[in-house]
Amino acid sequence: MIREENGMRTAQDSSAAKAGGNSPAEAGSLQAARKETAGTAEAAKAGGNSPAEVGSLQTALKEAAETFRRICGDENVLEEEAMSVHTTFRIGGPAAVFVMPPDEERLRDVLQLCRSEKLPCTVMGNGSNLLVSDEGYRGVVVQISRNMNRIETEGEQIRAQAGAMLSAIARRAMEESLTGMEPESGIPGTLGGALSMNAGAYGGEMKDITLSVRVLTPDGQIRELAGEQMQFAYRTSIVQKENLVVLSAVLQLEKGDAEQIRARMEELRQKRTQKQPLDLPSAGSTFKRPQGYYAAALIDEAGLRGYRVGGAMVSEKHCGFLVNIDHATASDIRTLMEDVKARVCSMSGVELEPEVRMLGF
Ligand SMILES: Cc1cc2nc3c(=O)[nH]c(=O)nc-3n(C[C@H](O)[C@H](O)[C@H](O)COP(=O)(O)OP(=O)(O)OC[C@H]3O[C@@H](n4cnc5c(N)ncnc54)[C@H](O)[C@@H]3O)c2cc1C
Repeated sequence: MIREENGMRTAQDSSAAKAGGNSPAEAGSLQAARKETAGTAEAAKAGGNSPAEVGSLQTALKEAAETFRRICGDENVLEEEAMSVHTTFRIGGPAAVFVMPPDEERLRDVLQLCRSEKLPCTVMGNGSNLLVSDEGYRGVVVQISRNMNRIETEGEQIRAQAGAMLSAIARRAMEESLTGMEPESGIPGTLGGALSMNAGAYGGEMKDITLSVRVLTPDGQIRELAGEQMQFAYRTSIVQKENLVVLSAVLQLEKGDAEQIRARMEELRQKRTQKQPLDLPSAGSTFKRPQGYYAAALIDEAGLRGYRVGGAMVSEKHCGFLVNIDHATASDIRTLMEDVKARVCSMSGVELEPEVRMLGF
């Protein structure tokens, strides 16, 4: 099982709490709340901690939410926020704290406070590749999308913030007669999510167009990585391996013909509409493409087209998509994934691996 964790847990750093915007007194009370149970964040998720420990984490999260409000503004901090609202699966229990930092500096402050207080923390973009558990996430979800989505062009390069949607970047590329983004134009994710996943389609992937990426390391340093340093591979990159947070990136495109670019994007859009169940909530292809095979074909050959568990179903239109057909729970999707994996393995001997990232399991 893939477990999603962009949380950064390093040794307690009192200066970090100050940099996070809270006063020493506030930092002190947060630390006091955490003192008895330092490190219980992991335990809380594992379900092995006492009610007192759970209570202490709860208190620390509440205090952190207060501090985040001062850092990011009331409108950018939500508590007990249903993750079903923020994922394309339309599934997921509450995030204890949900923060949308208004800019890079505040993003750094939020992450720094999570680190210094050892709070479970994860970063997300558009939630188009996320399955969140029905119990939700007892930690801080940092959403990098609507507030950090600036896009600038310079010659044949596009510089964009991590929260910019691929569709918006592709549109800008088309307007500037820049070619190279067409394959990714229909992927419903942010730039940060796409760089983490090395997202791709129709023969292109982020690896092909990434010139450089600015990231935040788990110890809070900003680094600029060249495309070659991103360790891009099939649906993964150094972002996942080293728990980095993408801040922004420069994409290298080429001069092209605006009309041809528009036509290619439209052609690919129509292909998606014809082949994919875009009318139903999903996270796209649930499984990675196994070497030498197509997951969708293996699932179809295993007789699973339309197979259902509760409100979750193998799409009849595209067997690689598991869809939320009728108020599916995360547990329905997980059981369906297990059933599909087992049946495909017994029919073809191929072990399917999830592409979708898990949170709160
Ligand atoms: C209908 C549909 C079609 C799809 N088609 C495709 C396709 O053709 N090709 C394809 O590759 N994918 C496809 N996907 C999957 C998904 O859109 C991509 O994986 C996308 O790149 C995820 O971006 P996101 O912003 O939604 O990331 P999220 O789902 O929010 O997060 C995905 C991962 O990225 C991490 N992440 C997000 N932002 C950052 C950041 N700033 N820094 C560090 N880590 C970050 C998260 O922690 C998580 O691990 C499809 C999904 C849907 C629903």
